[in-house]
Amino acid sequence: MKIAILPGDGIGPEIVAQAVKVLNALGETFEMEMAPVGGAGYEAHGHPLPEATLKLALDADAVLFGAVGDWKYDTLERALRPEQAILGLRKSLNLFANLRPAILYPELAGASTLKPEVVSGLDILIVRELTGDIYFGQPRGVRVCPDGPFKGEREGYDTMRYAETEIRRIAHVAFQAARKRGKRLTSVDKANVLETFQFWKDIVTDVHQEYPDVALDHMYVDNAAMQLVRAPKKFDVIVTGNMFGDILSDAAAMLTGSIGMLPSASLDANNKGLYEPSHGSAPDIAGKGIANPLATILSAAMMLRYSLDKAEQADRIESAVKKVLAQGLRTPDIYEAGTTKVGTAEMGQAVLNALL
Ligand code: NAD
Repeated sequence: MKIAILPGDGIGPEIVAQAVKVLNALGETFEMEMAPVGGAGYEAHGHPLPEATLKLALDADAVLFGAVGDWKYDTLERALRPEQAILGLRKSLNLFANLRPAILYPELAGASTLKPEVVSGLDILIVRELTGDIYFGQPRGVRVCPDGPFKGEREGYDTMRYAETEIRRIAHVAFQAARKRGKRLTSVDKANVLETFQFWKDIVTDVHQEYPDVALDHMYVDNAAMQLVRAPKKFDVIVTGNMFGDILSDAAAMLTGSIGMLPSASLDANNKGLYEPSHGSAPDIAGKGIANPLATILSAAMMLRYSLDKAEQADRIESAVKKVLAQGLRTPDIYEAGTTKVGTAEMGQAVLNALL
């Protein structure tokens, strides 16, 4: 099993090193190869996604990604900025399914802005379609308005569209993920207003016939936004389009109040995937040894579960993370009075020790 390791910029190398340490302690034989990406790619080869890095990612069974970006690259032309690397990888690897769990370990319930009883023990998974919808639909642009009450004025416009194949494949990913969890799936749409999402609803309902063991319900996106902050624990798996997923997954992430804890996976049709923490490169704390490595370590666990078919090893890592939190170890971002403050490497080592 070959894993491409792309640490990136800022805290990327520090947190990825901890995940690699944990992977190496599992007793499996992984072939891991590292390559520069983002600002590091630009410095080494003049491009945020150097050819050799892309080739490594294409040849690997899975990609473990840190984070990219630094303010010092803000003046570069857009195509050379570090963030383009992640867009290039998504496109080249056909990563159409974005899986973002929002988990709130009971020990961290105080970190949420919501009442502990509303969020403690939260464990939901948002499956967001990543390559279609109004973000990519053509035509789009700014033109002279051709009709209606504003005819002749300038207008901005985009196109919302989803092909049947796009909806079917994301629905399959979501039903399969639900099957591995609580067997409940909520499809979020706006079928009452948008043709695209009536079509979405019809196709998801059709795909459901292949998954009779999973309970499916449908919810309008405005109601879903409300339910996410009212009673988030009612959800198991949510599947939705690119734009609604973009918004809902950030809202769900913030329910947990701890950006350093949230992993993510982006998958193709064969479950090959790119795994990364939900946060960015945190240049403000880079090099200080205080970044929380748990989101990256948990991303490695997702990689084992979804791309490498090693669910037991994924469980081992997730249990080890729970154990170190129960022991009271905290990086500064999740520190509370009465717990023990540790740095990035100590936290990684504690997870490794808890595996054994
Ligand atoms: P950020 O997520 O990097 O940081 C936001 C805040 O959270 C900062 O205060 C940071 O210190 C803190 N934080 C983030 N991760 C942490 C961790 N593991 N442990 C402790 N604290 C952590 O977002 P930003 O500051 O808006 O962006 C910084 C750079 O990251 C920008 O260049 C941005 O473009 C890039 N970015 C990259 C990705 C990616 O690589 N996928 C995603 C988002 C942002």
